[in-house]
Amino acid sequence: MRFAGDTLVLATHNAGKLAEMRDLLAPFGVRVLSAAELGLAEPAETEASFVGNARIKAHAAAKATGMSALADDSGITIDALGGAPGVYTADWAETPNGRDFSLAMERAWNELETCQAPYPRLAQFRCTLVLAYPNGSDQVFEGCMPGQIVWPGRGLGGHGYDPIFQPEGYDVTFGEMDRWEKNRISHRGRAFSRFIQECFT
Ligand code: IMP
Repeated sequence: MRFAGDTLVLATHNAGKLAEMRDLLAPFGVRVLSAAELGLAEPAETEASFVGNARIKAHAAAKATGMSALADDSGITIDALGGAPGVYTADWAETPNGRDFSLAMERAWNELETCQAPYPRLAQFRCTLVLAYPNGSDQVFEGCMPGQIVWPGRGLGGHGYDPIFQPEGYDVTFGEMDRWEKNRISHRGRAFSRFIQECFT
């Protein structure tokens, strides 16, 4: 269904995701407002799936604003860890003083070492986008980027687990990639292509 409005609420409080989503939407002339700019509360992500949590965030923002809202729920699934951290990707970074992704990346590597996982240590970044309308309906778009976990992390770009994720077919990590290149191939970029194809072309 083609997107009919002129404004889209981005239902995320994650600055890294927000910057990427703004870049990805820039060519389409839609006015973008973030949840933080609108002073929206961050709902609890109580579901055990990416789509469940994306729906919670998108519908909460659409209901609160009366506008269409796009939410991203994403994370990394590591094969040798049975798909962990998955929907708990952000939780692995939680500390009493806020999120610390160097700690989260260290935990991922330590768990791989503990189970003596074979190389390459395969993983996937996954992204689920939910576009929620004020009438309660929604559309879902998914994207996945396979790759491997590397140690030590490399690169200062991106956010979250980017320094330890080397996408398939590349010898650089997401953290070493130019942001446009990352957006072109990433899980979020792939989910966005589907969203844009359906709603803006
Ligand atoms: P949530 O979707 O808000 O539950 O958080 C997902 C978490 O996954 C983020 O906080 C990041 O740690 C991680 N994540 C998602 N996408 C990316 C990415 O593109 N690069 C690095 N980390 C990511």
